[in-house]
Formats: sequence, C-alpha cells, structure tokens
Amino acid sequence: MQTVTTSARAAPPRVPGLDPADAGKATRMREAFVIGQPVAHSRSPAIFAWLRERLGVDLDYRAHEVAPGELAAFVAAARANPAFVGMNVTLPHKEAIVPLLDELSPAARAVGAVNAVVARDGRLRGHNTDVAAVRAALGWRDRTTVQVWGAGGAARAVLCALGETGADFVHVANRDVARAAALVAHFAPLFPETRFDVGPPWTETTLLVNATSLGMGGADAPRGFFAFPHPALSAAAFDVVYTPERTTFLREAGRHGYSPVYGLTMLVHQALATWGLWFGDVPPVHRDLEMAIRRTLGSAPLFLCGFMGAGKTTAGLALAARLGRAFVDTDARVGDVAAMSVRDLFARAGEAEFRRLERTVIERAALTPDAVVALGGGALLDPENVALVKRAGTLVHLAARPETIERRLANAEDRPLLGTAPLADLLAQRAPGYAQADVRIDTDDLAPEQVAEAVARAVAP
Ligand code: NDP
Repeated sequence: MQTVTTSARAAPPRVPGLDPADAGKATRMREAFVIGQPVAHSRSPAIFAWLRERLGVDLDYRAHEVAPGELAAFVAAARANPAFVGMNVTLPHKEAIVPLLDELSPAARAVGAVNAVVARDGRLRGHNTDVAAVRAALGWRDRTTVQVWGAGGAARAVLCALGETGADFVHVANRDVARAAALVAHFAPLFPETRFDVGPPWTETTLLVNATSLGMGGADAPRGFFAFPHPALSAAAFDVVYTPERTTFLREAGRHGYSPVYGLTMLVHQALATWGLWFGDVPPVHRDLEMAIRRTLGSAPLFLCGFMGAGKTTAGLALAARLGRAFVDTDARVGDVAAMSVRDLFARAGEAEFRRLERTVIERAALTPDAVVALGGGALLDPENVALVKRAGTLVHLAARPETIERRLANAEDRPLLGTAPLADLLAQRAPGYAQADVRIDTDDLAPEQVAEAVARAVAP
C-alpha cells in the first residue's frame, strides 16, 4: 500500500462526533480515504480538500493505491482505526469490497457495487452515491423516453437512478448486446413501473445518456452501432465522462438539439452525497465546488468584459475558435430567453427585467465548461455578477479609449442604452466593474484576431 496524496490539516472542527464514543472529543482528526488502483488520477482528494476548507471540518483525506490482493487487509486495518469515518472506493474494488462489509444500502444492493463506505459503531456499511449523483445531476430533466449507451458500472448507476425516479421507458444500447440484455433483466423486476429494453427508442428521446467510457481523454464519441435518436423538444444529453468536459458526444448531441448535462456535475454530487453520509450535513455548495474543480481541470470559463464596441463578440468568437471552446454571448442569450431583441426587451419590460434575465444567463454560463463568455457591457454594474464570474473563471477586460468606441459604434444597432446618457458618463459608471478583471487587454490598435491572440497568450496556463 502506498500513499500517493497527502492532505493538509485544516480549520477547527465544526462537526459533532460521528460515533457515541466520540462525544466530547470533537477536536480529534478524522480520517477518510479513496482507494483504488490506479488512484493517482482521482479527483476525490482535491474535492474533499475543498470541502474541508469550505465547511471547516477537521478531516484528513488521502488516496491509497491498494492492489486487489491487499484489499481485505486494508479494510481490516481501516475498521480497527478509531479515527476512520469511511472511504471512497474506485476501480477495481467496487464489487470486490462488497463481501468485506457488514451491510449495504438499497442503492448499493441494486447496483451490486459500492463507491462509498461509512464506518459507524464498529460496522462498515457500503453505499453507491453515484446513484444519488445521477439523480442530482439530471435534476428536473424529462425522463419520459431515455436512451442509455453503455452497460458497465456507470450504466448500472444510471439505470438505478432512472428506475428510482420513475422514468417511463429506458432503452439500453451497448457494443456487447448480451451485457445490455443482462442489465435490463436485472433492473426490470426492481423497478416494475419503468419499462427497460434493449435497442433504440421508437419515439422521440427526452434524455440521452453516454455511460460508456468512450470520449475519455478527448477520444472519439461512441459511433457505429450508436445512433443519435431524434430529440424531443427540450431534450437533454448527459455524458458521464468528465475528462474532457465538452466531449465529442456532447458536442454532437448539441448539434442534434440536445442541451448538455456534464459528468463533472455527477462527480461533484457523488462526493457531496458521501460527505452527507459521513457528516450528515450537506450545505448547498455544489455549484461553488463544481466551479472550483473546473479550475483544477483547466475548463473554467473565460469571461470577456468591456464597453460596447470593445470587440467582445468579434474577438470572443475568434478566441473561442482559436481555443476550441464554445462561445456564449450573454446579450444574445437574454434575447433568446425573452424571445425578442434586447432593444425591444428594454422598451417593453425595462432595464430591471433585462438585468434579471442577464443574471440567470450569467449563472448558467458560469457553469459551462470550456466556454468563452462575452458579457453585456453593463453586466458588471452588479457586484454579485462580478463575484460570480470571478469565482467561476477568469475575467478579461477588453479595454478601448472613448474615441475608439465612438468610431466602432458609428453604425451600431440594438444598443438600447447608447444615447440615453453621454458616453463618458456610461464609461465612468462601468469602469469599477471592468477594473475587477484579472487581465486587461488594450484593444485600440488591434484587429479582432490580434485581440484573440493577446487574450490566449495572457490566459495560457
Ligand atoms: P466499464 O468498464 O464498466 O464499462 C465501459 C462501457 O464502455 C461498456 O459499456 C463498454 O462496452 C463501453 N465501451 C468501452 N470501450 C468501447 C468501445 N471501443 N466501443 C464501444 N463501447 C465501448 O466502465 P464504467 O462504467 O465504470 O465507466 C464508464 C465511464 O464512466 C468512465 O469514463 C468513467 O470515468 C465514468 N464515470 C464517471 C463518473 C462521474 O461521476 N461522472 C462516475 C463513474 C464513472 P462493452 O460492454 O461492449 O465492453
């Protein structure tokens, strides 16, 4: 057994004893692990380090490389450790650990695999928090007709979550068809209200899930026997793969009309579900955690701010193309949401309504991986928007002198605030927000391509 990651000790404890024997000893360091082989790639130490700092819990969380032959001895040693609160379990131990535990949660029993263990009163209980994580990641999405690609461990958690949440029809496709049939035969009697079968759906799909390992490390999306079914209105596509986040599957699904659900959201929720099992208290930090982990993955969004005419859209599009990122224009999204032009929205509903919709759009953009986000010129008038974008990613100010802006805006349309006040006043009003940027690029003498190049250079890791 080899310890490959060590966590630092942290803030004073806030959590009461997990074990009656702990009463009055809340200052004792608690210990938890993630075990697997290999385990060095695991994001769990980073996630639990963030949770420990944010929630002020005295937890020492380490990754242990454990070979299959060492598993029983490792579990016995953990059981005997009075500071042990539990562990996460990853490949290849998720099934092998089952006989070493005292009891299983219903989800772990249904899936036949354990990814989280809780130590309490000297007993070890196995859970499968991937199931709760799939439910949380999918949230409100419509599960009338679901197609799941894959029949491995992740697919089992997905099918269990779909059964638990009362999906109507679940169609499973897999390269190894017999494996898909076995999965369907396993889950159908557990969830009689859901109809499981093998093969493509016969109606429009409301939810498409990639639960294969294809797409990891930037490899191709599933192809060949996997065909994109016709999406229903507002259909979603969920990829369990989270490295990279914007997988080929999600990009192709987007072209077919599906909106994305990212694997990182599931990863974050399985960790929070584990935290809840250990400490009983799960504050609503999932969005902040997702943003924090996205930063460590290098997929945090890049936000472009600046006055109208600064080149946020043209340079932003060039930047997105250069970096292979998605481009989001918040003004355009607000127009989409309101189903009218920004000018009409201002005229009919007023600036307050525009700002309310803009906040919703920025909140969504803040959770969009690998995005270049062009912020509306007045978006940073609201300090909460400033705090949000700085938490989520890197804020870049595309600056321009007033005379440059006047020249660029000579033929501007759909700029409702232009003309309502002198340009200098609007600029002065917005300058404090722009001054919060992490990076400033002076665009006066640059073409959009050159601005994109300068930003790419400035934000390169
Ligand atoms: P398994 O090995 O159990 O299953 C792999 C699946 O991918 C099988 O359905 C397999 O098909 C399919 N597959 C693999 N290679 C190919 C190929 N070349 N062509 C067609 N199909 C292929 O893996 P897991 O289910 O444990 O993991 C799958 C993915 O889920 C991984 O990327 C993992 O990182 C991710 N994951 C993400 C989580 C999250 O929190 N976001 C949590 C857990 C897992 P076949 O049966 O035909 O071999």
